[in-house]
Amino acid sequence: MSTKTIEFGVCKFCGQQVTALPGYVGTQEEADLYASENCTCADGAGFRQVRKNIQLGRDQVDRLFGPAVRDYGGIPLAADQRAILKGIVDLVATGGISGATISFGDISSRIASTAKGSLRVVRTITHRDAAEV
Ligand SMILES: [Zn+2]
Repeated sequence: MSTKTIEFGVCKFCGQQVTALPGYVGTQEEADLYASENCTCADGAGFRQVRKNIQLGRDQVDRLFGPAVRDYGGIPLAADQRAILKGIVDLVATGGISGATISFGDISSRIASTAKGSLRVVRTITHRDAAEV
């Protein structure tokens, strides 16, 4: 893929040409993606919402399960475990599944779509104290 100055991208849903950002330099594929995300057609708007939900959901996975949780005494999940959760985010956001709950030891995560069309990520810590006497 070669990069060049591009003036238009083509929306993959309706075929409409969308003006690229002034002086945009990139590949035609990138410009077409930009066009699909910024087109005024209904499918373009839906695509934008899906892309936004994926980004927000993946960020939320990092916030709730990443190294930052150490700041308040939490135990972060490993990068490959977070990658699994991000894969679930993608599936939920694109409508492949409505939601999923997955547990890593005492830490569990529920990722689901909401009635409002957004995405919800919940972190639950199970802590049990038990003693046999
Ligand atoms: Zn379109």
